[in-house]
Amino acid sequence: MRFHKLRLTGFKSFVDPTDLIIQDGLTGVVGPNGCGKSNLLEALRWVMGENRPTAMRGGGMEDVIFAGASSRPARNFAEVSLHIDNQDRLAPAGFNDMDNLEVVRRITRDVGSAYKANGKDTRARDVQMLFADASTGAHSPALVRQGQISELINAKPKSRRRILEEAAGISGLYQRRHEAELKLKGAETNLTRVDDVLEQLA
Ligand code: ATP
Repeated sequence: MRFHKLRLTGFKSFVDPTDLIIQDGLTGVVGPNGCGKSNLLEALRWVMGENRPTAMRGGGMEDVIFAGASSRPARNFAEVSLHIDNQDRLAPAGFNDMDNLEVVRRITRDVGSAYKANGKDTRARDVQMLFADASTGAHSPALVRQGQISELINAKPKSRRRILEEAAGISGLYQRRHEAELKLKGAETNLTRVDDVLEQLA
């Protein structure tokens, strides 16, 4: 799985559709302060399912929508699409039937976020799992925010362990365990109800 293009539309300072082509080797993004370099990295995290507005340097998730400038009105939606080369067929099951995979996230004011994978509506959880299983994703240690190194130095061992787990691609297992535990609890409640009914019938 190799990311090869990121397209931003109405996302933060990128009001017009803008493509970032990620070629083989090293891709550098250079520019003056405030030109949007960090916004590009945030777009990448956002399309992979980031749900914390603070991680997007905003107060609410709708803050990622272009807020307007002196010469341009604000937009009503923001969209980021990530084009992935899947010729090595390493994408997890359910996303692995094509050589190319395109994941799109769109947020519309007062409506919220929606995801698509190769044109089909997809749940946020499935997109998050797709990237978590591939050892990347919104919390990937490969994406280093400003100030993150000093945060790491001061972090407690438990938080540091989480970084190793992300890198090992096992963080999706925690989510699955949590979901399995909820299902188990539901099944136990149902069994208790069945016992009650059986007792009444006896
Ligand atoms: P530096 O080199 O200082 O870290 P940078 O190139 O990383 O800067 P960013 O922090 O990515 O720049 O971009 C900041 C710019 O994005 C600011 O000009 C800010 O006004 C603009 N911006 C952020 N959110 C929005 C939004 N919702 N609508 C319009 N512009 C926005």
